[in-house]
Amino acid sequence: MDKIRVLIAKPGLDGHDRGALVISQALRDAGMEVIYTGLRQTPKQIVRAAVQEDVDVIGLSSLSGAHNVLFPEVLKELSRNEAEDILVFGGGVIPLEDIQVLEKNGILKIFTPGTSTKVVATYIEQAVAEHRGETPMLQTPPKRVDHIGIAVKSIEETAVFYSNHFHVNVETIAEVPDQGVRVAFLPLGNCKIELLEPLDENSPIHAFIEKRGEGLHHVAFEIDNIQQRLDQLKAEGIRLIDEKPKKGASGNPIAFLHPKSTYGALIELYESKQDAENEGGQ
Ligand code: ZN
Repeated sequence: MDKIRVLIAKPGLDGHDRGALVISQALRDAGMEVIYTGLRQTPKQIVRAAVQEDVDVIGLSSLSGAHNVLFPEVLKELSRNEAEDILVFGGGVIPLEDIQVLEKNGILKIFTPGTSTKVVATYIEQAVAEHRGETPMLQTPPKRVDHIGIAVKSIEETAVFYSNHFHVNVETIAEVPDQGVRVAFLPLGNCKIELLEPLDENSPIHAFIEKRGEGLHHVAFEIDNIQQRLDQLKAEGIRLIDEKPKKGASGNPIAFLHPKSTYGALIELYESKQDAENEGGQ
């Protein structure tokens, strides 16, 4: 794969380029060729430099508040120069509601302060690889919530509650001795409730209940390509509980992310077997 070429640019009038310099260096460290335009560039100058340097990606940094004017102007200038195949991402102090509009109108992704440079580098690598037709982009949202895990002392007792008050019934019960749990699934629309009961006192669910009481334990996102997702998250600096997928209660591959990296929520990744078969067992 050819080296990724990136132009980091600072449109607008603000005179601070520490962020732009930090990201330039981080992308160089990740093996990319990076050209930095310097301060106070007009969209015209930026696009001219991008075309001359034959870059794959432009990264725009803005702290001046003028992103809503300057970022779209760069896109327009690209299309005037028939250079729309150059991907554009942005970074800086940009309000959430502006991000939505900018991303809808052609800016690939906006990164806000606090984003790890690893995340930006991983994202650019994937976006360019997909753009060059090398590998499909993994950075799609999970398909849905597959299930919500609830830690309980007794599946039987809890099941009575769901049956009596919500008329939701247990569909399957399984023991997963590896993980020290007995598990019941209760279908609920296109989602499920997963009741987790400790098999013994060594069970992590036993420890969870001792510490925090019964209640919400984890949420499971359905995704494709679980191993690639785990590798991506790891590259982005997310702490993983499982670096390789393990077999979940339903027999499908699952893996947990560490709550220290996810603002306290225990997130399970869940790959549905059917999809894996449809895609040739990958
Ligand atoms: Zn689960």
